Amino acid sequence: MNIRILLAVVFLSGILSGRLNLQGLLTDYRELNQKVEELGERKRFLTLVNRQHPLSEDYVPNLTPTAQRPDIQMDAAACEALEKMLEAALEEGYTIIIASGYRDREYQEGLLDEDIASAMGRGMTYEEAYRYVIQETMPPGCSEHETGMAADLVSPSNQVLNEGQADTPENRWLLEHCAEYGFILRYPKDKEAITMVSYEPWHFRYVGVWAAEEIMEQNLTLEEYIYQMVNREESY
Ligand SMILES: [Zn+2]
Repeated sequence: MNIRILLAVVFLSGILSGRLNLQGLLTDYRELNQKVEELGERKRFLTLVNRQHPLSEDYVPNLTPTAQRPDIQMDAAACEALEKMLEAALEEGYTIIIASGYRDREYQEGLLDEDIASAMGRGMTYEEAYRYVIQETMPPGCSEHETGMAADLVSPSNQVLNEGQADTPENRWLLEHCAEYGFILRYPKDKEAITMVSYEPWHFRYVGVWAAEEIMEQNLTLEEYIYQMVNREESY
């Protein structure tokens, strides 16, 4: 074979294989980037906020008003999912009311102060009142509502945050379908020892569909789910 032709063949095949490799790499990178983005979102959606683990003070939620109650804001991704969920419920004949969404630290502080004042009004000292109130009301920084990813959802027939919520058809619908939209019942019954919060049938938390399905199917709390995940040595 003529040396020039041979060199040309080697050169061309080099380019071709180079291109193929390059294309392969580009595809991988694209997939990788997508995975990293998904992971980033997943990680944010799993933000754990509880009494032992307050929300970082520099957390800035990306808020958007809810369509049903423009005065109530939610994290944009959680809001989109919530709206899809409420629409689906409505299509099946269930009206679900948003009672509360995003609340900032100051608001939470105000709630705590109000509850302390009311307990002191019943004759407790400040310390007694604080210790009593803190069992139910989250200290500032420890309420999930500060993430914008939690919503209190109630039935039109029972617009109160009480255990009676669990007996409404709307709440039963939510329990059955919330995971499909990335929500979990955050404070289930009989899990108080783990969540350190009493049963709250109205409080739903957005964690993303992927995590929500596992959590709801296995009857877990977010704490248990994260604990399991760490022990499986999976990065999330
Ligand atoms: Zn709540």
